[in-house]
Amino acid sequence: MVSLEPHASVRSRCPHCEQRCPGYDRPNRPRQWRHLDMGGMRCFVQGSVSRIRCPEHGVVTEMVPWARPAANMTRAFDDNVAWLAAHSPATSVCEYARVAWRSVTRIVTRVVGDAVGRTDRLQGLRRLGIDEIAYRKGHRYLTVVVDHDTGRLVWAAEGHNESTLNRFFDELGEERTARLTHISADAAKWIASTVRSRAPQVKQCMDPFHVIQWMTRALDRVRSRVLSRLWGFTDRDRRQLRWALLKNVENLSPAQISVRAKILEDRNSELCRSYVLKE
Ligand SMILES: [Zn+2]
Repeated sequence: MVSLEPHASVRSRCPHCEQRCPGYDRPNRPRQWRHLDMGGMRCFVQGSVSRIRCPEHGVVTEMVPWARPAANMTRAFDDNVAWLAAHSPATSVCEYARVAWRSVTRIVTRVVGDAVGRTDRLQGLRRLGIDEIAYRKGHRYLTVVVDHDTGRLVWAAEGHNESTLNRFFDELGEERTARLTHISADAAKWIASTVRSRAPQVKQCMDPFHVIQWMTRALDRVRSRVLSRLWGFTDRDRRQLRWALLKNVENLSPAQISVRAKILEDRNSELCRSYVLKE
C-alpha cells in the first residue's frame, strides 16, 4: 500500500473538465487504486480525496493525477493492461495482470477513450479500405475503415449496411470526404453504392484479397468439371492437381510441379487458360 496526497495545485478539480469546483463532501475512508505489482505482489495506492460539485458534471470525486476519472486502477496499471490486451490473448492478460476480463474491457475503453480525444484519426485521410468483419459466430458484424497510407484502423462501428457507413461519412464531414482519392472494398453492393453517393470523386478499387479468392474458386470449379476428361493423367496426378493449381508456384512439391507442367503443355485447354488467367 502506498499513500498519496494530490498536490494542492491540482485539488478540487473536476476529473472530466479539470475546472476547479466547490467541495461537496469528504468520505471518511481513503480511496484505493490498484497499481502495478511490486516484487510480484499486488500494490495499491491510497489517498484521501473529496467529492466536488461541478456545474457541468455534477457531484464527482475530485481529479487525481495518478488515475483516470472513475477508475479503480492507476493510469500506469491501465496503460500496462491495455498494452497487454493489444498484444496477447485474453486469458493471458487476465492471468498475468490478475484481473477479470470485464475489468480489462473497461480499462481498454478508458485508455482508448483518452487517446481518441487527443488524436483525430479522421485527419488527413486519402486512401481507405472498407471491410465488414463477422464476430459472435457470424451473428454480428462490424464495419471497419482502415487508412492504407498508415495501415491504421481509423473507424469501426457495429452493423454492416448503408446507414452504418453513412455514419462514417457524417463524422468525416464534407470537406475531408472531398479529399479522399481511393477506397478499396470487397464487392458488397452497400459499400459501393454508399461510396458512390457520398464520395463520388473517389476511385473505387477491388480488395486484392477478394479478387484472389474469386479467381481461386473459379479455377477450382473448372478443375472439377474437366477432371474426368483429362488425358494422360494418373490417379496420383489427379489428386495432386488441386494444390498444383491453387498453391503459389514456389511452394509446390516436385510431384505438383510436374502436374502443373503437364497442364501448361496444352495452352488451348480450358484448364490451362483458367490457370494462366488466375496467375
Ligand atoms: Zn466538470
